[in-house]
Amino acid sequence: MAGSALYETFARAPLSFERGEGVWLTTDAGERYLDLAGGIAVNSLGHAHPHLVAALTEQAGKLWHVSNLYEIPEQRRLGERLVAATFADKAFFTNSGAEALECAIKTARRYQYVSGHPERFRVVTFEGAFHGRTLATIAAGGQQKYLEGFGPKVEGFDQVPFNDIDAAEKAITPETAAILVEPIQGEGGIRDFPLASLRRLRELCDARGLLLIFDEVQCGVGRTGRLFAYELTGVEPDIMATAKGIGGGFPLGVCLATDEAAKGMTSGVHGTTFGGNPLAMAVGNAVLDVILADGFLDEVKRKALLMKQGLAAVADEFPDVIEGIRGAGLMLGIKCKMPNGKVNEALRGEKVLAVPAGENVLRLLPPLIISDEDIRLGLERIRTGVAKLSASMKNGGG
Ligand SMILES: *Cc1c(COP(=O)(O)O)cnc(C)c1O
Repeated sequence: MAGSALYETFARAPLSFERGEGVWLTTDAGERYLDLAGGIAVNSLGHAHPHLVAALTEQAGKLWHVSNLYEIPEQRRLGERLVAATFADKAFFTNSGAEALECAIKTARRYQYVSGHPERFRVVTFEGAFHGRTLATIAAGGQQKYLEGFGPKVEGFDQVPFNDIDAAEKAITPETAAILVEPIQGEGGIRDFPLASLRRLRELCDARGLLLIFDEVQCGVGRTGRLFAYELTGVEPDIMATAKGIGGGFPLGVCLATDEAAKGMTSGVHGTTFGGNPLAMAVGNAVLDVILADGFLDEVKRKALLMKQGLAAVADEFPDVIEGIRGAGLMLGIKCKMPNGKVNEALRGEKVLAVPAGENVLRLLPPLIISDEDIRLGLERIRTGVAKLSASMKNGGG
């Protein structure tokens, strides 16, 4: 692709989609794919959801942008709705997950600063985490492959092994401000922290005057069958970043915090040009209209079970290809025995889209509106792809 005008930072599949409807994507050649990747958990309500299209086009005819120098009523409304539905008292809107994380980290540092602890700025994080691609969030994520060649790692992040709470406790110093964790790691391979671990993190934070930050950029917004994954755990954070699914495909993120945690975020200390603009707010409110409607999340739970059971059956049938199924809700991982890229290709051969993740896992993050019929069709296609792989290995391929 030497002729491309674009940075070569993405290894793109040779597919170009022209339009989408629900869980289906159509290529420019007219081929239809079942989208179980959902734009990496972004297309929470599928493609071209009529309620979202209406909200966006209606707003587009009225007002696109005014800046945060003025009142934005739809921003106020979305903030109030998120606050009413969560642990939080305050919201700051961004355009992406990484920006929501940046806001979360800044909020924690400012909290310590205005609480008489300006020396507390460090954040404890966990291996396998992914928090974004800005300079601070690659330092928080701690993955060497994302840090290499980008100069000195941003100071202030101390990483401990996944789910090693003793190590997290030991990593706390008089300079520590917060602990940052994805309740369910997405890029890391659909790995969830045991309840007991999250509870211990909460206790540690309370005992040591630290803030607990959850990164629900991927696992939030209905993905687990709850509005946010932390509801499954009974542990509430002080600060939470979310994005991806909350815009349903429109760039939108948000940092949520308790009044106490946000007390340092006073006039002028933080800002954004595009964050919370009327277009994003119209879509964000429309996404919530659907996800918070009576019974919607119960349906996600029911369909998730159907999908997980079906995948487990395929795993049982082809233990040479699949080691097991993991995940919560419609955030599912196929732990592969052979390279996950090969399994991904096999699925694509059956016109099913999935996303590779760490730990040799293949992720399924379908739109939450997927029907039972499409789940069955997806399972059938996945079984066919996996069966072909299994047969090719038995024939000495692999
Ligand atoms: C995708 C992701 C991010 C980064 O979001 P961007 O919108 O790409 O900046 C951060 N945290 C988690 C858990 C993610 O999955």
